[in-house]
Amino acid sequence: MSTYETVLVERPDPHVARIVMNRPAARNAQNLQMTYDLNAALDAAALDDSVKVIIVAGSGPHFSGGHDLRATTKNQAGEDFPPIGNWGGFREPEAHGRFAREQEIYLQMTRRWRNLAKPTIAEIQGKCFAGGLMIAWACDLIIAADDAEFCDPVVTLGVCGVEWFVHPFELGPRKAKELLFTADAWSANEAHRLGMVNQVVPAAELSTYTLAMAKRIASKPAFALKMTKEAVNRAVDATGQQTAIDQAFGLHQLCHAFNMQQFGIVVDPAGLHPSFRDTVKKA
Ligand code: ZN
Repeated sequence: MSTYETVLVERPDPHVARIVMNRPAARNAQNLQMTYDLNAALDAAALDDSVKVIIVAGSGPHFSGGHDLRATTKNQAGEDFPPIGNWGGFREPEAHGRFAREQEIYLQMTRRWRNLAKPTIAEIQGKCFAGGLMIAWACDLIIAADDAEFCDPVVTLGVCGVEWFVHPFELGPRKAKELLFTADAWSANEAHRLGMVNQVVPAAELSTYTLAMAKRIASKPAFALKMTKEAVNRAVDATGQQTAIDQAFGLHQLCHAFNMQQFGIVVDPAGLHPSFRDTVKKA
């Protein structure tokens, strides 16, 4: 089994792979290394025919605090990691390079996780914020601990929500606007009430409950599971979800370009925690 710098892969059952984001000191914030580690681990589980169900979890008290804004000045998409897409333009300045980068590491990456041809279950405790939501939403099922919190605070940063824009589909348009406009953190029970979360369980039982469900699903025929996932995803695609995501991604890039012109930085600095202001990438 491969090992990864920022991700652990466990096999709690012969038919279940449990992929654990492992940067607990950083609240499992996704730097580029973690994005590509997660992608490689998901690919390996997808291609391993003994695996029928994949759990995506986070070590420590939080699932994921989002994208690691502090880390964006280090590794470069398309250079330090071979790209998964063929968009190119990673070295181009300003909007061109930014579009290329975010298209690669957020939009295409999340889309390929969402389309992975085996059932995936997000196992969520603590904070599931911004980019953390993107990972959770890419999974087929979401099991939340009763201490889980969900939040997309990106409007505060002068941008119209995270790059994988499925909020209206996950929450309904009116509640999606509330989540985005207010940037409030919502409880597991509220997310469950809205249909975004499948089950809420006591935090101490989260992993055992999730594994038991994974095993129950893994007892079904592998091909039927793949076709079922595909059938539901195609139904969702038929609503125009993929087109809506691409439209919102374009508006997201417009927000970055606006902030760049206005403030010389891709987000509105008024919304940044002071400790981030000098470290967020300038372009
Ligand atoms: Zn962005």
